[in-house]
Amino acid sequence: MNEKPIKNVISLSGGKDSTAMLLMMLEKNMPADLILFCDTGKEFPAMIRHIDKLEKYIERPIIRLRAEKEYDYYLYQHKAKSKKHSNDIGYGWPFSNGTNRWCTSKLKTDLISKYLRKFSSNYTVKQYVGIAADEEKRIKDKIYPLYDFGVTEKEALQYCYNKGFDWEGLYEIFDRVSCWCCPFQSLKNLRKLRKHFPELWNELRIMDKKTWNKFKANYTAEQLEMRFEFEEACENIGMNIKSRKFFNELRILFEQTK
Ligand code: SF4
Repeated sequence: MNEKPIKNVISLSGGKDSTAMLLMMLEKNMPADLILFCDTGKEFPAMIRHIDKLEKYIERPIIRLRAEKEYDYYLYQHKAKSKKHSNDIGYGWPFSNGTNRWCTSKLKTDLISKYLRKFSSNYTVKQYVGIAADEEKRIKDKIYPLYDFGVTEKEALQYCYNKGFDWEGLYEIFDRVSCWCCPFQSLKNLRKLRKHFPELWNELRIMDKKTWNKFKANYTAEQLEMRFEFEEACENIGMNIKSRKFFNELRILFEQTK
């Protein structure tokens, strides 16, 4: 029986690891038949420009996949089927414990699976994912060239910088670059979002007002805004923002504004 030909598919998130993976694979003449990028609609504008720049550099098409119904629709318009939230509109923010992660499935993995379905009867599809040597291999049935090359996250970023890809400074600001409204971001990253991208931060605050659940387990976006403002005021008078006093006063502030 003839074996099916192989279709080598690169999953490009656009971040440093998948970019380094793609560039290294091409440099080593490894096969890359399809390059897929899922645009969640909440990518930093600099990320979209990075994809355009990368496409020109490699002189191959990058296939952009975008869901018909987008992030905001699933966040606060879609009628959730779950019994627990049957009266709520939309899935709400993905939960901080990693459940209800509709954004990854609806805006990424489902799109890729649907796109690849047309090849599945005639090809064996091999999917390549950019996970660095110092990260855990998260999905068992994929191929992780960076991991196999022994390239760490730091080395992947430097490699991209050396090739002229700098994401217009995004990695100078954030340690991880994902959707700007990702609730799984650290407070550190969110402070930076507020400082460096105030218009996106304000958009996030508007989005949060329309959802049924809190942006983060312990904070609405408004409470984060309050906390960050309060942090600045405390720092100006020399108060330690990790101290018990700070958290006591923050709690009182939240109670007063309930
Ligand atoms: S980066 Fe965050 S918000 Fe965006 S798809 Fe991934 S988990 Fe969802």
